[in-house]
Amino acid sequence: MANTAAAPAPPDAGVPGSMGDVRRSNLALVLGRIAQAPAGSHLTRAQVAGATGLTKASVSSIVLDLLGTGILREMGLNSHGERGRPGVGLELNPARGVIGMEINVDYIAAGVTDLSGAVVLQEIRERDNRESESAPVMAALADLAAEVRKTALERGVEVLGGGLAVPGLVDAGNATVIAAPNLGWLDVELDLDRLLPNLPLGVTLFNEANAAALAELARGPADRRDFLFLSGEVGVGGGLVIRSELFTGPEGHAGEVGHIVVDPQGILCSCGGTGCLETIAGQDAIFAAAGIDAKGQPRSESMSALVAALAEGKPEALRAVEGAGRSLGVAVASTARVVNIQAVVLGGHFAVLERWLRPSLSESLAKYAPGKVFPDHITIAAVEEGGALLGAAGSVVRSLVEAPHRLQP
Ligand SMILES: [Zn+2]
Repeated sequence: MANTAAAPAPPDAGVPGSMGDVRRSNLALVLGRIAQAPAGSHLTRAQVAGATGLTKASVSSIVLDLLGTGILREMGLNSHGERGRPGVGLELNPARGVIGMEINVDYIAAGVTDLSGAVVLQEIRERDNRESESAPVMAALADLAAEVRKTALERGVEVLGGGLAVPGLVDAGNATVIAAPNLGWLDVELDLDRLLPNLPLGVTLFNEANAAALAELARGPADRRDFLFLSGEVGVGGGLVIRSELFTGPEGHAGEVGHIVVDPQGILCSCGGTGCLETIAGQDAIFAAAGIDAKGQPRSESMSALVAALAEGKPEALRAVEGAGRSLGVAVASTARVVNIQAVVLGGHFAVLERWLRPSLSESLAKYAPGKVFPDHITIAAVEEGGALLGAAGSVVRSLVEAPHRLQP
């Protein structure tokens, strides 16, 4: 869970109905403290007061508001591990959740987590979205999301807000996909309100690799705070996590590792550039080099065919993946030099092909950035499927914890 950076604010003057800045930051402070409590432990109001520096009266009043929004619920305290008088503990309400969604080139996906990040359900559907107008893709996703939301409700979880991840550059503030070349979307404004109507927190737009990197941060090893996440899909995306924060750059577009030039004499890339990593290590590029006819095939079948060819030792397939690994090494070496990243997490098809990618990737790293990224610092993503949607959902929870006043009691 995110840390709430705000220092304890003085107790609110408590004008009924007012929602001043102080009260807003105190709401976030109290909720953040409760959200950070280890799983299974439930802080009392007195403990929250002690931890935040707020008065007990102030905490009680804030907790009342948070209970009113449904974000928190009260628990009878368990007898062990809690000192003092028996009391009432507080926790994030497991009956509230968020929905994460993803549009990618060959599938759409939606899933719900509760506010602690536990997955309630998730659904992934293959769908060819390449060069498709945004409207039919959004309509198909709206159907899937409505089904998933309904099933979550039947399982006792009400969805408060959502996050949508797409494989491209986004302007979240304007709900606009600036460029998703593999979908063929350029400056496409998405109607996120129609996607899932009547969500108290609405739907926020994310870049797919950034969202997946956030899922990796939340669900991977607790001591891993700095890493480069590589998302292998039709496109190649990157998410940079530095000191447990996503590094997005001044305009939110940092980490585009897929468009680092690895072959200046290479072929034209979907981004308009030439010889980008994606043109050698993206799924289509690997299939083509491996002699696998992926046209009109479900992507999962093409990937299975590739893995089978690799397992059989087919030279064409081995060469294709070896080349992808070598280029990946060049791009990671360059990135490591610039941002001082020492750990790399492989997601998507890079995780699936890791066994065959690793030798040329390691060789490349040793050659182009000796001593910078060690082989045992290259790991496979902890989240196997749905990383982007889980990351988007987690981000929505995080922003809710940081600004709970957005939910009116
Ligand atoms: Zn490119």
